Order: sequence, then C-alpha cells, then structure tokens
Amino acid sequence: MCARTAGLRGRTVLVLEHNRRIGKKILISGGGRCNFTNLHAGPENYLSNNPHFCRSSLSRYPASQFIELVQQHNIAYYEKTLGQLFCRTSSREIVDLLRTECRGTGVQLNTECAIERIERTDRFHLQTNRGPVECESLIVATGALSFPKLGATDFGYRIAEQFNVPIIEPRPGLVPLVPRLADGRHWPFGDLSGNSLDCIASAGGQSFRENLLFTHHGLSGPAILQVSNYCAPGESFTLNLLPEQSPKALLEDARTQRLDAARWLEAWFPRRVASALGEQFAPAKPLSQLKQSERDQLVEHLCDWALIAADTGGYAKAEVTVGGVDTAALSSKTMECRTVPGLYFIGEVVDVTGWLGGYNFQWAWASGHAAGEVI
Ligand SMILES: Cc1cc2nc3c(=O)[nH]c(=O)nc-3n(C[C@H](O)[C@H](O)[C@H](O)COP(=O)(O)OP(=O)(O)OC[C@H]3O[C@@H](n4cnc5c(N)ncnc54)[C@H](O)[C@@H]3O)c2cc1C
Repeated sequence: MCARTAGLRGRTVLVLEHNRRIGKKILISGGGRCNFTNLHAGPENYLSNNPHFCRSSLSRYPASQFIELVQQHNIAYYEKTLGQLFCRTSSREIVDLLRTECRGTGVQLNTECAIERIERTDRFHLQTNRGPVECESLIVATGALSFPKLGATDFGYRIAEQFNVPIIEPRPGLVPLVPRLADGRHWPFGDLSGNSLDCIASAGGQSFRENLLFTHHGLSGPAILQVSNYCAPGESFTLNLLPEQSPKALLEDARTQRLDAARWLEAWFPRRVASALGEQFAPAKPLSQLKQSERDQLVEHLCDWALIAADTGGYAKAEVTVGGVDTAALSSKTMECRTVPGLYFIGEVVDVTGWLGGYNFQWAWASGHAAGEVI
C-alpha cells in the first residue's frame, strides 16, 4: 500500500521481500478469504501505549477508501458479521490487487531478497544478497513475530534497535489462552475440546460478546482471541457463560431446584459441557440443598468466572503481535522516526494492534498510505 501510494506520486520505489512471494499472510488470512477491513474501524478498536496515535492515519485512509479500491478491481466481497468484510472468492484477489496497483505505478518488487546490512549517511545504504541499494527513505514494513512459518522475523525490531528507536515489549496477540483457575489449579476442561459457546469475555476494561471454543490445552475462538490482546500472561480475564441470563434470576431459580448443577445446566449447555461445569462449580447435590454461599459461587462462576491467563499459544498461533516500535518515537501523520529523518515504520511492526475482524489490515493500509503520501 505504501509502495503504491508513493508510486502514484511519481516516486521511484523498490520493495525488498525475503519470501519467494509477496503477501503470504494475506493469502492465509480470514481462512483464505482475507477479512480485508472492517466497516466500523476506528481508534477505539486498537491498543497501543498511545491509543490516539492511530487516529490520524485511520481518518485519512478509512475503510471506505480500501473498499473503493476493492470495488475498482471488481473483487466480490461480503459482510460476514460485525462489519467484517471478506472476499467472496479468495484472498489471492487482494494480493493481486496490490501487485496490479504497484505494477501500474512502476514499483519494482524484488523477492527472495535478504537484507544483510543497513548504513546511513545522508541516504540509506543497504547491502542485500542481490546487490547494494541506496535510497532517500527507508520504510520498514516487516510485520512482527506472529506466524514465523510465513516468514515473520524480528528484523523490524533489530532495525529499530540499530537506530536507537525504543520498542514496547512485544507479546503474542489474538492468540488462544491456556487458563488456570483462580485458585491456581490447572485447566480441567481439556475433555471439552471442540465445544463452542456464546459468551462475554472481558479483560482490561474491554468486553467482547462472541463465541469461545474449548481446546485440548485451554480456550480459543473469537471471544478469547479478542480478550487475549488485553491480558498478558499472569493477568486475569472473566467469562460470562450465560450472557442472556440475569444472575439474580439464576439464583432465584437455583434456590428451589431439585436438580444438581450438572443437570440444571443442561437447560443452556450441551450435556458434556453442563456436566463438566456442574462438577467443577458445585457439590453434587440438588441445588436447593446447597448452602447459599455455594449457590452464590455457582452463579458467579457462570456469570463472572475469573480466570488467569497462565500462558498463550505463542507466536506460532498468534494472529498479531501486541507491542512493537514505540509510537512516541514516530510522527502519527507520516510514520517517520522523529530522531532519524527518512526512516519510517508502518503496519504491525509498530505498537498499534487491532481487534480481530479486519482491523489489523486496515491499520496496515492506513499507516502504509500515510507514509506513502510523504516519502
Ligand atoms: C493466520 C493469520 C490470519 C490473519 N487474518 C487476518 C484477517 O483476516 N484480517 C486482518 O485484518 N488481519 C489478519 N491477520 C493479521 C494481518 O495479517 C497482519 O496484521 C498484517 O499482515 C500486517 O501487515 P504488515 O504489512 O505490517 O506485515 P506482514 O503482512 O507480516 O508483511 C511483512 C512482510 O515483510 C517480510 N519480511 C519480514 N522480515 C523480512 C526481512 N528480514 N527481509 C525481507 N522481508 C522481510 C515478510 O516476509 C512479509 O512479507 C492475520 C494474521 C495471521 C497470522
């Protein structure tokens, strides 16, 4: 996006990509259909040490602009849910769009290109396996650490370090969680793997109503991926497993129930889930015979279940990296480094992380566009 925007302004642009092909993450994204933007993308959908940083780029290149480009290229798309736009046919169409746009503006793409050294005088001098490159502006769009099997590296962070640009400690984001119970016990629900539930997951002041998925090691599904951005390992998150029920009404019902918790929960959950949750959350007795404090605890587990995010699925399973190049070091208008004129960071390498749902690509397009307008 950055290359194409600069190319449109008549700049001479060279893209250096170490993979054999460009846009590998785009290709596998959105289950092969690329959730390329979100109709509602705004600063409130992003995390960063400076939550206002993304405002400028996003407002100058909103979702509607990328949608216009998608329409110009006759790419069929649809809204899946919550403003999330997907290609109807294949992610490949988005890669083709970018390639065609770049070709049209004379951008040169050098793939299988490894950058060995970067030096700076009044210009940047790069040593690559395909020979030396010299440039006025150097734009770092290397992405971050997620999905190393697709070519993700820490190269962007190493460039930042070389030029003394600070980095906010990175960690996996949009990632499955390995929870621990609040009393410190290991996750006892591995057998529920494959079951999915509607829930509200909350952490760090944010709540998401989406599905969670039980896995062999813990929890995944959109609700969990979303909340993982807001809780680092060791921090807590909560789940409301019955978002349509009021705790007060549940307590009232439980007070006179002859069923035990496992049977009672079958009204809302598949039998295996009801039985596993019931066993963990209450003694095996008719609910009417439980102490009030035991009924309180049962309902609290159902509606406000506090868990610790003991671990995550790591970068191998993380769709994004939270943290990255500190936005305090960059101009929010141009993405240029304040202390190193001519050096720019865009996209995921920067400490701006979007929610699940097309927000991360929108940030990549918008920040790339911002830099492309000025280099
Ligand atoms: C499985 C998966 C699914 C996703 N689905 C979605 C989705 O549907 N919607 C959404 O909004 N976001 C999605 N994301 C997140 C999204 O892909 C990223 O946020 C986005 O691609 C970031 O764009 P970027 O250009 O900053 O980095 P990247 O897309 O990671 O591109 C960086 C490029 O730099 C190259 N590179 C890295 N190091 C070097 C080096 N040393 N030398 C030369 N080249 C190098 C890489 O090979 C890569 O081509 C998904 C991520 C994953 C992992």
